Amino acid sequence: MSSKEDVVIIGAGIGGLTLALSLHQAGIACRIYEAVPELRPLGVGINVLPHAARELAELGLLPELDKVGVRTRESIFFNEHGQFVFREAAGLAAGFDWPQYSIHRGDLQTVLFDAVKQRLGPDAVVCGQRCTGATQDGESITAHFVSPDGERLPDVRARLLVACDGVHSALRKQLYPQEGAPRYSGVNMWRGTAVWKPFLSEASMVRAGWLDVGKMVIYPIRNDVDGKGSQLINWVAEITDPNPAIRDWSRPGRLEDFLPAFEDWHFDWLDVPALIRSSDSILEYPMVDQDPLPTWTQGRLTLLGDAAHPMVPRGSNGAGQAIIDARYLAGQLKRRGLTEEALQDYDKVRVAATTQVVLTNRTNPPDAILREVYERTGGKRFEQLEPIVSQAELQAISDNYKKVAGYSPAALKARPSFL
Ligand SMILES: Cc1cc2nc3c(=O)[nH]c(=O)nc-3n(C[C@H](O)[C@H](O)[C@H](O)COP(=O)(O)OP(=O)(O)OC[C@H]3O[C@@H](n4cnc5c(N)ncnc54)[C@H](O)[C@@H]3O)c2cc1C
Repeated sequence: MSSKEDVVIIGAGIGGLTLALSLHQAGIACRIYEAVPELRPLGVGINVLPHAARELAELGLLPELDKVGVRTRESIFFNEHGQFVFREAAGLAAGFDWPQYSIHRGDLQTVLFDAVKQRLGPDAVVCGQRCTGATQDGESITAHFVSPDGERLPDVRARLLVACDGVHSALRKQLYPQEGAPRYSGVNMWRGTAVWKPFLSEASMVRAGWLDVGKMVIYPIRNDVDGKGSQLINWVAEITDPNPAIRDWSRPGRLEDFLPAFEDWHFDWLDVPALIRSSDSILEYPMVDQDPLPTWTQGRLTLLGDAAHPMVPRGSNGAGQAIIDARYLAGQLKRRGLTEEALQDYDKVRVAATTQVVLTNRTNPPDAILREVYERTGGKRFEQLEPIVSQAELQAISDNYKKVAGYSPAALKARPSFL
């Protein structure tokens, strides 16, 4: 037996939930099928840059995000000796019309999930249904499912199916059965959160050190978590390592595998080893991506978010590009109807745009600023930075990334809404 939907979305992650809200805004009926029996707020911190925040603003979600996230004010870079390298304003402070948020992934997912339940109804997300594949007959597409115990569940027929099923996407495997495992970048990451007193501007995103000797990304993701003004601070340690960690977002990590690289990072703006030691739990994950695909679409099936373009998390763009895919696709479906041609248009525009982001994340993401300083100083302390590398050069790296990822202030202001 099977039921019939207009659009079936596979996966209730950031991309799938944003797509459901956007389709609803466009007057298109949809339902999400999610593998896990219950959505739990997993993960640690992520950033939503102004181009993606704009989309969430157009969904009316900024008041809810403000209750749980931190509006980032600046992005600031230090070398592994704690010496200041580069600073630039972020979000509204940088002249964007939309803020940048640093937020717990679970909080962002909860804001989206609550809005889906409120606007589309409590049955809009069906949990405990893992999609195993889809078949097409020219008229419709049929999704096949199993329960968490592996029992076959009834099929669901739809006019279109959008696979938002993340980095282990079953539908991507169906489209590209020969594709190998995700590509390891040679860097492992350890992530955690700790309750700590505010540092620097109280809304600073810090990047420090370099991958060869140990790099950290540190930023607050929740304000006043204890009624005494402390924040929840998110940190990510990244170190070059020939052996990739296991690809499981919830896998615990061990202090001894990475803390030695940061043991002497006692800076006047933050005591990094003390922050790491006070963390509740530590997760490890390898930095992986996939070579960009030539197309994500086959007939009535397309991919979105990490299923389509997993990228190494070096430009704060994983969640953002998933959000933009969702909004762009909803706009196309609104204008062109639930047609294969609308999927083809989405494919053409978003494959090209995200291919650039995936490749630039490998070579020249914003943290390339730290690579320049590390290589030109040989990892040593400097007396003066300017003769070694100018602020203008460092600014150019940052500006280039904004252009590639689609969030320079002028371009973003000029671009019409997707919906
Ligand atoms: C548990 C978890 C923790 C994460 N933690 C972090 C983090 O700490 N930092 C970070 O930068 N990024 C993290 N990510 C990844 C981040 O959410 C994505 O890179 C980004 O937001 C793009 O979102 P997405 O919707 O494409 O994929 P995801 O957010 O990964 O969502 C995919 C969804 O699809 C579901 N799913 C998978 N396979 C199937 C299937 N066959 N059938 C039905 N449903 C399926 C998954 O359960 C998940 O809910 C995490 C992802 C997950 C799933």
